[in-house]
Amino acid sequence: MELKDSISCLKGVGPRKSEALAKLNIRTVEDLMFFFPRSYEDRRCRKEICQLREDETAVIKAEIKLAVSDRYRKGRKQILRLLAADDTGTIEVVFFNAGYLQKSFKVGTEYVFYGKVSAAFGKLQMVHPDFSKDEGLTGIIPVYPLTKGITQKEMRTWQKTAGSLYDKAEEMLSEETIERNRLCSMEYALRNVHFPQEKQKLLEGKYRLVFDELMVLQTGLMAARQNSIDGRSGIAFSRQVSVDEYIGSLPYELTGAQKRCIGEINDDLESERIMNRLVQGDVGSGKTAVAEAAIYKAVKSGFQAVMMAPTEILAKQHYEGLKANFEAHGIKVGFLSGSMKASEKRAVQQDLRDGKIDVITGTHAIIQPEVEFCRLGLVITDEQHRFGVNQRIRLKEKGTNPNILVMTATPIPRTLAVVLYGDLDVSVIDELPPGRQPVKTRCVRNKMRNSCYDFVEKQLEQGRQAYVVTPLIEESEVMDVRSARQVAQELSEKFSGYNVALIHGAMKQQEKDEKMALFYKGEIDVLVATVVIEVGINVPNATVIVIENAERFGLAQLHQLRGRVGRGKYSSYCFLILEGNSEIAEKRCDIMEKSSDGFFIAEEDLKLRGPGEIFGMKQHGLPDLNISDLAKHLDILNHAKAEAKKIIEDDPLLRKNQNQQLKRRVIRLFGEDFSLNL
Ligand code: ADP
Ligand code: MG
Repeated sequence: MELKDSISCLKGVGPRKSEALAKLNIRTVEDLMFFFPRSYEDRRCRKEICQLREDETAVIKAEIKLAVSDRYRKGRKQILRLLAADDTGTIEVVFFNAGYLQKSFKVGTEYVFYGKVSAAFGKLQMVHPDFSKDEGLTGIIPVYPLTKGITQKEMRTWQKTAGSLYDKAEEMLSEETIERNRLCSMEYALRNVHFPQEKQKLLEGKYRLVFDELMVLQTGLMAARQNSIDGRSGIAFSRQVSVDEYIGSLPYELTGAQKRCIGEINDDLESERIMNRLVQGDVGSGKTAVAEAAIYKAVKSGFQAVMMAPTEILAKQHYEGLKANFEAHGIKVGFLSGSMKASEKRAVQQDLRDGKIDVITGTHAIIQPEVEFCRLGLVITDEQHRFGVNQRIRLKEKGTNPNILVMTATPIPRTLAVVLYGDLDVSVIDELPPGRQPVKTRCVRNKMRNSCYDFVEKQLEQGRQAYVVTPLIEESEVMDVRSARQVAQELSEKFSGYNVALIHGAMKQQEKDEKMALFYKGEIDVLVATVVIEVGINVPNATVIVIENAERFGLAQLHQLRGRVGRGKYSSYCFLILEGNSEIAEKRCDIMEKSSDGFFIAEEDLKLRGPGEIFGMKQHGLPDLNISDLAKHLDILNHAKAEAKKIIEDDPLLRKNQNQQLKRRVIRLFGEDFSLNL
């Protein structure tokens, strides 16, 4: 067996198991080896039967004295009862509905059992314990994340087999790096993470593997960044162009924070250095105006600009906004999305190449290879957390060293931002336009739904509009989740004098656009929606948002959704309707009631995630990590970052021989597309 061999070379892995393993991204023996336990069970707690106490979880070794199989539920189900004994006492071992197990036990033979001890009628019991004939069950046992069709037992067996190749695992770090960071060897790390002998060794091993993974992450991020800015000079926009002209034409006064950001961006744009800046600003803080000032500067300096948005609705809205604000300045705005007719797309692409369009906005359609610019100088990605690293890079490649601006409303906890975006300049819009009142937020138990919708009706009577958000489109088998369709139906009956409409992600684009346009114009009063409205939509007259099954949404998402209201001069309201008794959902709602500060909410979100849960990397356009947890491993991340920096400074494109293994791991983490950067 070799590392690169297909997983099907393992005993017991046929086509069906291979397929299931592929779902876990395990295709080769090496993949298996780098598939790590989610947690561990400490099964070193070997006990004599007389020592057992109710409710404890323990390992015992006992001989089967008696095995009886009974039927219950009118004979449809089988129960297997074993009487097991060691020198100190007896215990009953019970398996429900598991007739097939009867053959597994022989009276007179000893087995090891691991399970929770309960008491029934004064006698000790173990119900459905793990069991085996040998000691394989004892010690610290790995628990792997699984998928349908694979059992924990199988995974452990295969992992044991793969263990014979630990010494073949390739070393990607230099001797110096290993010594400087006092890391253990790869072989030691793998052995002790999969099958630890003791806690200390597990920690040492895990440290090493987390270090490796975070170093791969950092190397990738730095390579991408380095490649975009290092050693190249950028485009300096004209100092003669004053963004004040544009700012003066806006119908409102900019906030201090907006002015500061525009100033920072303006300095970047006038310098030879390539701008690489992140604008973080809470929902409604006015990021678009900041982006527009930058676009104005680019176009008036003779360059084209592009602004990419994650959804068609948002891109369309940007298009309308840009057209309205730029026409008076003689700036030509274009739009491109996947749902346009081929002939329309071709016409837009031609105008872009000819320079007839100054600024274009649109969806992912903009990064298709057929889209070419004639003098692209500024690239903006709105809601950047919705895009992957690769997509942002492809957009950038459309020009020659264009200036880059990324914007996000998903606040990244400060602690994390420093590390992840350490080399990126960050501007923060930490002030909302004046007159905005915090959205009054209330958690509502399901039985109070009606009074909540009565409140909505009062808002409608005053001429305001409302959003209602549900987690699913169709009624599902899970009875408790209210579907958008069902809610829309109910509400059109309840609000009979008003216009209630439904919008969801599976709808045709044209239909969505039409409804959205009607909501804008105020012709639709209540918009029932799935999360398609999550990002960016701006309708200041909408003053109330009701979120059904709020327990289904994460904090960041709830905060984003709430940001759809409170965008105008009216008091606004958010109702979170809770079903069930999830403790974590209640805590989330508490935080939402208490705070409207996106950064605070992001920090709380980090704390709320249970141990072992992986931090939502995808939210920030980063790849999923295997073993590291950024919330917990910040310290290791810092060390790994320092090492990554040394390597990238010495070998920016990872061309050197000694870095080939690292390069392979980087491509593996970020995906094949990423090799374009190296
Ligand atoms: P976001 O940061 O969430 O993208 P937008 O750019 O969509 O926010 O702005 C939200 C709303 O606030 C828009 O209607 C915009 O016109 C308005 N706005 C932006 N800046 C100001 C300001 N300084 N004063 C008043 N309204 C503003
Ligand atoms: Mg926005």
